[in-house]
Amino acid sequence: MKLLSTLILWIGISMTGHAAVILQYHHISNATPASTSLAPELFRAHMAYIEELGYDVIPLSELVAALNNGTEVPDNAVVITFDDGYADNYAPIVEELHSRNWPYTIFVPPQIIDDQVRGYLSWDQIRELAEHGAEISNHSQGHEHLAAKLDGETDDEWLSRVQANILSAEQRIEEQTGQSHRILAYPYGEFAPEILSMLADLDFAAVGQHSGAVDHFSNVQALPRFPFGGAYGGMSGFRTKVRTKAMPVTEFQLSSNGERLPSHILTHDQSWPSLTLLLDHEGPVKASSLNCFASGLGAQEVEALDDYTLVTSPEGYLSVGRSRYNCTAPTGERGRFFWYSVPIIRLDEGDQWPPEF
Ligand SMILES: [Zn+2]
Repeated sequence: MKLLSTLILWIGISMTGHAAVILQYHHISNATPASTSLAPELFRAHMAYIEELGYDVIPLSELVAALNNGTEVPDNAVVITFDDGYADNYAPIVEELHSRNWPYTIFVPPQIIDDQVRGYLSWDQIRELAEHGAEISNHSQGHEHLAAKLDGETDDEWLSRVQANILSAEQRIEEQTGQSHRILAYPYGEFAPEILSMLADLDFAAVGQHSGAVDHFSNVQALPRFPFGGAYGGMSGFRTKVRTKAMPVTEFQLSSNGERLPSHILTHDQSWPSLTLLLDHEGPVKASSLNCFASGLGAQEVEALDDYTLVTSPEGYLSVGRSRYNCTAPTGERGRFFWYSVPIIRLDEGDQWPPEF
């Protein structure tokens, strides 16, 4: 496996500040765990707001094709995605999306659908939705933590296992629906640099759950999405997020104690990583206009090294598990921001995957 290439973090090139935003939903229900659920009435309000804005709702495959082909990324475009294939998605999808003729993606873990686990769509339902504009895509076989190595596993064994998982899930989805988009949603939004390289070799695109808009800067194997559920589903947040523009970041780098880190998966000791962002010199954003936030720590100090380089250093420990740095900058349009997010995973005291994951 190409371990050296994993040292290069995600980099891209862009021309303009476009705004294609990918929305991520899990449950649409009042009866499921709050953190991954959005009330049906809020989902209806989200869809009505998109209609009111007049934005184009486009298929994820169309956005990925634009990125892969280097053609212009659609502006003021929205992609709607649902993770896991929950049965409670069925009625809101029919009522809100089919009625408007809007495309959308459902990311399914085929092993869980095959096992007919209670609370999930059946293959019959999935095929029916597919006939009405649903793209059915890959969410791993059984919703595994793909970035976590098993005990005693070598890097090669781990990556072979992950590759087999993704390819067999893709094959099962094709058998059941006739569709194969080669687009993965990382379970829990977790990935590793080695998995990005592997997916690029396999000609797969992938989406995470770090936030931000998509443009040619975005890495096709680590596309951002805005998750909506729990505390993050309300209308004021939705209005801001659906209108964000892609921050023109050409490269990011994490470092700890002055040393560049090879990955966003941190050992336990790398608890205060600083983040360096390089902004596109042709782009509309200056380093001094950014505000950055770290999960659990709030607003962080930002130092502009020059017009296009900035460093933000957290003023406290990141907690063990999943965190994010989010940076925003004003666009000049009221209530509209450039947005960029870096996902971080900090391992537990034995540098193991946290057990509660
Ligand atoms: Zn999921």
